Amino acid sequence: MAETVFIGFGSNVGDRVDFCDRAMTLLSLLPHSRLKGVSLLYETEPVRDRTDPGEGWFLNGVVQLETDITPRSLLTTLQEIERSLGRDDDNRSGPRTIDLDILFYGEQVIKEPGLTIPHPRLHQRRFVLMPMNELDPLWIHPTLKQSAAQLLAEVEDQSQVHLLFPQPSTRYGSRPACSSQPGT
Ligand code: AMP
Repeated sequence: MAETVFIGFGSNVGDRVDFCDRAMTLLSLLPHSRLKGVSLLYETEPVRDRTDPGEGWFLNGVVQLETDITPRSLLTTLQEIERSLGRDDDNRSGPRTIDLDILFYGEQVIKEPGLTIPHPRLHQRRFVLMPMNELDPLWIHPTLKQSAAQLLAEVEDQSQVHLLFPQPSTRYGSRPACSSQPGT
């Protein structure tokens, strides 16, 4: 049975809009999958919690997929997409053309070497919670038992996250945004 999956994406080097757009195009073409929603793009201050992504501000967003691809295969696929878009495997914590993270895989809780779902830091990151809240504010974190809206309301991260304006037009066919503009 297809699972609802949320994938976080970010880019902070080069033509960020183009990297995000190309990643969306590739995600929209995944087999056994359907792109259900794509958040708006958010411009966000680099967070240096565990990494040193450089000075460049990120474009971030979240994608909602329905997929039959297993979590482990999805991780491998996302890493292939990252590589195909020029992600530097030798300096993964540095500036990145594209970063793709599995945030949620349905209600599944997975703790395996190299794969933790829900993503262990998503609830601490405003730049994830804002687009997540845009796509599905009522989505419940399966271990914290709080909705995306609640997590956003309580997040301590005060780093700057703004809607990118104007929003770029996208190359991938239909933009299945599943929510209205926040605040409207
Ligand atoms: P990053 O440098 O942020 O792309 O992190 C990638 C590393 O995190 C890889 O070694 C993955 O195996 C690991 N990882 C663990 N859980 C996840 C997840 N839920 N989504 C993406 N990568 C994950």
